[in-house]
Amino acid sequence: MLVERFDVFLFDLDGVVYLGDEPLPHARESLARLRSAGKAVLFLTNDPRPTRSEVARRLARLGIEARQQEIFASGWATARCLKQSDVRSAYVVGSPGLISEIREAGVEVIESGHPEAVVIGGDERTSYAHIERAVRLILGGARFVATNPDSSYPTPEGPIPGAGAVVAAIQAASNKRPAVTVGKPYPEMFDLALEEFEDKTGRIVMVGDNPSTDILGAHRVGITGILVSRTPVRFRSNQDFRIPDAVIPDLSFLFDPRVSVRAWKSPSFSWPDRVEAGVAAVILNRKNEVLLVRRVDRDLWSVPSGGIERGESIKEAVSRNVIEETGLKVAATRLIGVYSDPASQVFCYPAREAVQFITCCFLCVIEGEILQAVDTEASGAAFFNPEKLPAGLLPTHSKWLSDTLAGREPPFIR
Ligand SMILES: [Mg+2]
Repeated sequence: MLVERFDVFLFDLDGVVYLGDEPLPHARESLARLRSAGKAVLFLTNDPRPTRSEVARRLARLGIEARQQEIFASGWATARCLKQSDVRSAYVVGSPGLISEIREAGVEVIESGHPEAVVIGGDERTSYAHIERAVRLILGGARFVATNPDSSYPTPEGPIPGAGAVVAAIQAASNKRPAVTVGKPYPEMFDLALEEFEDKTGRIVMVGDNPSTDILGAHRVGITGILVSRTPVRFRSNQDFRIPDAVIPDLSFLFDPRVSVRAWKSPSFSWPDRVEAGVAAVILNRKNEVLLVRRVDRDLWSVPSGGIERGESIKEAVSRNVIEETGLKVAATRLIGVYSDPASQVFCYPAREAVQFITCCFLCVIEGEILQAVDTEASGAAFFNPEKLPAGLLPTHSKWLSDTLAGREPPFIR
């Protein structure tokens, strides 16, 4: 029985416990049963509009017991995150509940002047003027904070625009992305909810109806995710973090002995937000030394590499990236391999964006030019004896080099 496998249960609210003003079938009695079995029950909602106490009162009206400390709403969690980052003032696009949580955390909510942060919640009163002001303040240097990424919220009448829809409008107009997004599937709210629990992986489970927020968020923090759904969900890759560990039609199935749950085991890579194509070049000089560049951003050595521009062929991309990085004119002659191992090719960037690269690696010939950069280590580009490669060579690139030097026939795929 699912219930026996876990001690701490995190529940999403909309679509799991209630929909609008109605509790969902079997939610009330299942939650009461969990409590009487001594389980910890917490609620995590991305809805940034209500305060924690408003959520507690709403649950009480539906006959569901919940203390304020057991409720983690994205508005409250955002207020906590502002406080933790020492933000002193904010312009808030959102409900009175969100504004009240932020004030409660000791952050001044201001309508004019220059706030340190712009917080996006969004509710039915959000207007063009709010979005316009948020865009101006963000372009003026205020920190762009999103309460959650949900593009819509469910209602009995159908979906309504969520904070994610307002964030998308501001992002489109300002060409800036949020510096932080607090709600599920990001770890902030999970971390706040799990602060008091020692064992953060083994006996904790998230139960939600949205694979892209509830299940992905659970798996990112290393806990099991159970999906409440009456229809099966499918993802193309069996490594997808959004695949639930069990699917149940409603909460009464937590007590059904026929339902089994997979044990979630976190892979070694972060969940990529997107996948991008790239190229890499292995370039040897007459002495069979290999050209490496020092990555300024990471202080690591690598073979020349980069992205593919729109409308560009792969061979053009190889030549362009090499000339941009080293000043050397080369031509790609032989495909070494196509690589997209998530364990080594998912890179995390500031603002927590993770990108998985698919890289076509080519052996290249030098077309008569000379290396423009001075060939010392400090210059950022130099030829090295393959037997004496510098420390701090990207492990993936080391593999590409050894595949090249092993002289295997293309194409082989990793
Ligand atoms: Mg939901």
